[in-house]
Amino acid sequence: MLTTLHKELEKRAAEGLLRQRRLLDSPQAEHIVANDQHFLSFCSNDYLGLANRPELIAAMQKAAGESGVGSGASNLITGHHRYHDELEKQLAKFVELPAALLFSTGYMANIGVIGALMDRHDAIFADKLNHACLNEGAYLSRAAFHRFPHNDVAALEKLLTESTATHKLIAADAVFSMDGDIAPLPEYLALCEKYDAYLYIDDAHGFGVLGEHGKGSLSHFKLKSPRIIMMATLGKAAGVAGAFVAGEQVVIDYLIQKANSYVYSTPAPPALSATLTESVRLIEAGDDLRTHLQKLIALLKSTLNTKRWQLLPSDTAVQPLVIGGNHEVLALSEYLQGKGILVPAIRPPTVPAGTGRLRISLSAAHTEDDVKKLVAALHEAEAIL
Ligand SMILES: *Cc1c(COP(=O)(O)O)cnc(C)c1O
Repeated sequence: MLTTLHKELEKRAAEGLLRQRRLLDSPQAEHIVANDQHFLSFCSNDYLGLANRPELIAAMQKAAGESGVGSGASNLITGHHRYHDELEKQLAKFVELPAALLFSTGYMANIGVIGALMDRHDAIFADKLNHACLNEGAYLSRAAFHRFPHNDVAALEKLLTESTATHKLIAADAVFSMDGDIAPLPEYLALCEKYDAYLYIDDAHGFGVLGEHGKGSLSHFKLKSPRIIMMATLGKAAGVAGAFVAGEQVVIDYLIQKANSYVYSTPAPPALSATLTESVRLIEAGDDLRTHLQKLIALLKSTLNTKRWQLLPSDTAVQPLVIGGNHEVLALSEYLQGKGILVPAIRPPTVPAGTGRLRISLSAAHTEDDVKKLVAALHEAEAIL
């Protein structure tokens, strides 16, 4: 086995696909210290700049003093602290759904929820560009698994008409993590009503950013239905860690019994929940942050003008610049690093072969000057590389 592992790693390296971790020595912010170098960073999903906010640091310190640092046991034994419970109620109210349930990560939420709700008599319909953990949840459930081309409502409808499954679940990222575009959720919900299906949306990149007061993609489209189950992560715009699932009370009650990644796992420390309660308040009060973020998005889109590389059409904080081959995108990312700017090179299998890209991720913590610096460096790179 070890020989195989060596060979696989060598093959990855030869193809420009080897991934390496950077060593971070600063808080997550727009200016970071990584591998002992200072960078202007366009890498994080901390879209509102909350990961290093003094109010949240203070909230975590205070809550740790009151509740300790560990949860000690799973939720169904003694691990369900009042801080977890308060956060669940606050989140449900915020996203305007009847109930919510916390998970320790978005990955755990997706595999747990889909695995619990669907079984071998059911069918899952998934966008081809969905996040890996939605697919993994589908495999775990043993339900029939149908993938449709990205955002293709007609292809999805065709699959639904052909399905004889007992229960049907349409699963999609609301905002696609590597493309930044938004799924046609109103059309999906209409199909759910027509074909008696349910809609599972992963709002990892919409929560905190889109909709009224950052309530997310459901609010963005003003969607309401008992057929909707949403998941959002709390380690991206919310700036901390974790995830929650929200929907009808009966769905949440069922998940508490049946979602294995909930039942058999130790919850995140209660202090994290207390911190998140403060973070959700900052999100709700953060219209100025979202306005500033939108301004930066508009600035990038209106000033970046390269002929060789193309920004994908996105109105969200995720602005992908498609470069093409693995070595090309690495070379560009390295050129920017030489200029003190960090933008991650995203390669297959995260994105389809030949569509290697710089995933520029903007944050309310950036200034207009930061964006101008990035744009100037990209124009320079186009002329030189
Ligand atoms: C990041 C992400 C997840 C996983 O969430 P974590 O809390 O980081 O485990 C799930 N879905 C999407 C679309 C994501 O971008």
